[in-house]
Amino acid sequence: MLAGLVLVLLYGCLFLGLLFNVAVTVTGIMIVTHFVTGIAVELPFDALYYSTAILGGTAVIGGISTYNLEYALRTNFLETRLLNELAERDGMTGLYNRRIFDDYMERLWRQSRRERLGVAIIFVDIDFFKPYNDLYGHQAGDDCLKRVAKCIARGAKRPFDFAARYGGEEFVLVLYGPPDEYARSVPEQIRRAVLELEIPHAGSQAEKHVTVSVGFSLASPETSRSLVGAIQTADEALYQAKREGRNRVVFKDSDACEVETGNFRVRYREVG
Ligand code: GH3
Ligand code: MG
Ligand code: MG
Repeated sequence: MLAGLVLVLLYGCLFLGLLFNVAVTVTGIMIVTHFVTGIAVELPFDALYYSTAILGGTAVIGGISTYNLEYALRTNFLETRLLNELAERDGMTGLYNRRIFDDYMERLWRQSRRERLGVAIIFVDIDFFKPYNDLYGHQAGDDCLKRVAKCIARGAKRPFDFAARYGGEEFVLVLYGPPDEYARSVPEQIRRAVLELEIPHAGSQAEKHVTVSVGFSLASPETSRSLVGAIQTADEALYQAKREGRNRVVFKDSDACEVETGNFRVRYREVG
């Protein structure tokens, strides 16, 4: 019977994957029950102490194994989460990276069609950032990027909203199902928040501080043709903000406007 109990204890601790707390409680109850039953059936004291000591030793071995197993599982869980987090985030700004933007955006787009809710896509690009780097150095440029990124991250307040680093000194904020007035106020808040950082920029032709240009579009699932079209509309709004002098917000209605397909980036470079 003793051998049977030892086997049950070891099996419970090693193969059932019990949590440490549970394993300690279960083995404790088993040992006490064994001891009490031993007294009740008038087991000789020698045999009772001997068997209880064996069970106690087994419980200690089982407890250590359970503890180690649980520790390893928890560490593994945390490491996996950390790795996932690192893979999803841009190392410098802490915002989501471009890959995750593409991924989330597609999912959000499908969700918006199911739930019949609109999506606001807001592109933010730092003005005259190349001159900023040239004047103040790359390290100062990185610091500036981090501070601007915080202003954009603060715009993602609601459950499905998210901000990402789209590339270089360009960011994107996505608002899911925003009330019209709210969606229209956020881009201006971002532009103002960056200006209020008052980061000196002697090389800017727009202001004496660092500024951003913002382009945004609102896409409703009923009328917007495609996700690509909605993104491109916001992109074109940003282009227009640059063309009109920077440090400003331009809105383009994704549903109404005619999407100028093709070489936006190329033309933008020519104007810049
Ligand atoms: P515009 O107002 O038209 O946007 O002009 P711009 O100078 O901001 O745009 P341009 O595309 O010519 O230059 C972008 C610069 O951003 C060039 C690049 O060195 C800088 N940049 C991109 N990523 C980083 C980064 O991670 N750190 C730093 N310090 N600079 C970066
Ligand atoms: Mg720029
Ligand atoms: Mg840019």
